[in-house]
Amino acid sequence: MRVVVRQLDRRRVGEIDADADTSPARVTTIDTGEEVFLDWERAFDDAGQLRRCIICGSEDLFQQKTFPQITPFVIVLAFALSLIGVLGFVTDIAILIGMTGVLLLDVAILFFARTRLQCYRCRSQYSKIQIADYHKRWDRATDTRVRLGDSSRKQDPVRRLRARDEFNS
Ligand SMILES: [Zn+2]
Repeated sequence: MRVVVRQLDRRRVGEIDADADTSPARVTTIDTGEEVFLDWERAFDDAGQLRRCIICGSEDLFQQKTFPQITPFVIVLAFALSLIGVLGFVTDIAILIGMTGVLLLDVAILFFARTRLQCYRCRSQYSKIQIADYHKRWDRATDTRVRLGDSSRKQDPVRRLRARDEFNS
């Protein structure tokens, strides 16, 4: 899989090729030549799909659709065509052909759109992977919770420590 690595402050570190089969403990980024440490422990579920972030360890990931760079261009084109149509500069047939072209382009873009996974906590991006259904789209509630530091991880190290302190006292 391909990972765009980001630090916890969401600063971009670089891009890596992470091979799940060999699961190396550290890799060097392809573009920036920086060393990145990977945490593969419990990273995949039983179906072999990514469950948690191998960069920061967070289990909160969300799905994101990526569109090719051409999308803004198509929107502008569609807007320009409808404007021309409204102002009546050209014949209806020309507009019809133009709009059909834009529609076809739109369909092509949807076809080429890809889904990738992104980590709520560090914003590292995962592509070229199979995405599990339990990773949903981005939502504000989860984002706020992660930002406030309340991770959904079942084993919360802080909570366990506190429990032990209470036991000792
Ligand atoms: Zn992360």
